[in-house]
Amino acid sequence: MVFPNNHVSVIGAGQMGAGIAHVCAASGLNVYLMDQQGPILDKALAKIETNLSRQVKKDTISQETADMALSLIKTGTELNPCDQSDLVIEAATEKENLKMSIFESLCPCLSKDAIIASNTSSISVTKLAASTDRPTKFVGIHFMNPVPLMKLVELIRGITTDDETYDSAKAFVSYIGKSPVQSADFPAFIVNRVLLPMINEAIYSLHEGVGTVESIDTALKLGANHPMGPLQLADFIGLDTCLSIMNVLHEGLGDTKYRPCPLLVKYVEAGWYGYKTKKGFYDYSVEPPKPTHRSLG
Ligand code: NAD
Repeated sequence: MVFPNNHVSVIGAGQMGAGIAHVCAASGLNVYLMDQQGPILDKALAKIETNLSRQVKKDTISQETADMALSLIKTGTELNPCDQSDLVIEAATEKENLKMSIFESLCPCLSKDAIIASNTSSISVTKLAASTDRPTKFVGIHFMNPVPLMKLVELIRGITTDDETYDSAKAFVSYIGKSPVQSADFPAFIVNRVLLPMINEAIYSLHEGVGTVESIDTALKLGANHPMGPLQLADFIGLDTCLSIMNVLHEGLGDTKYRPCPLLVKYVEAGWYGYKTKKGFYDYSVEPPKPTHRSLG
């Protein structure tokens, strides 16, 4: 057992929260998965079940583990059940004020020893920690998408994070079978500091007519050996999340090289968030997915 109560809560049941609940439960931890919207919880549970079945088919986990994982996940729209948790992982929408308001409501529900972690992709862990009643027991635990498949977890130590909290977070990450890498608390940490400017540049290349959606993605797949093109990857990350990360890099580092591409802003304004809304740089309602971009030229 990695924690005294063997209990983890996950706040936000979107693509990341569902994945985090999945891997925690598959490692034998009791999980409380919370979202403000009930229907999202049903969708998350259905997705977890599908993904567990896929792992059973691929022989990466046994049927017993899949059954156990499903039985260990409880869901709800209230924060009170987090009182049993040793660790609460916040994986709600990437908005600073929203995360802070969640912490404000969450803290009074928690036991005094509980650790709070955020899965934020870019927001200052130190700043989020300062909005809680336990800045020393706050840490960034940044999973990669899709969580059940990706080995890496970035651990972000805020200025106030104490050794005990950091060590517990590290032990937790190893316990659920992931590999931790430590990142300093600078905007977007390591992976997104490098990855998102590349994606943003791909969107500029589309915007400026350097290539089409297909040629840009094919070029990076075949020319740089990337398993997925940058525009398709942006759709999988979520274009709203990509824009938030670029804004954090732009504001946090103050360098114009991080300016979000206006085309990315437009897509987000249109509600085209990528795969999760079935439309982004590709339209996922058809098979195979079709590029959506219309050139103005
Ligand atoms: P998402 O939009 O799929 O899910 C966010 C969820 O948060 C939604 O289900 C929403 O209903 C819920 N939510 C919003 N307000 C809430 C509240 N007050 N209480 C409870 N739930 C609330 O987003 P996502 O892609 O899962 O991203 C979640 C977090 O993980 C973000 O901080 C993001 O930066 C980070 N992250 C995303 C990726 C990625 O590739 N998408 C990778 C690593 C980290």
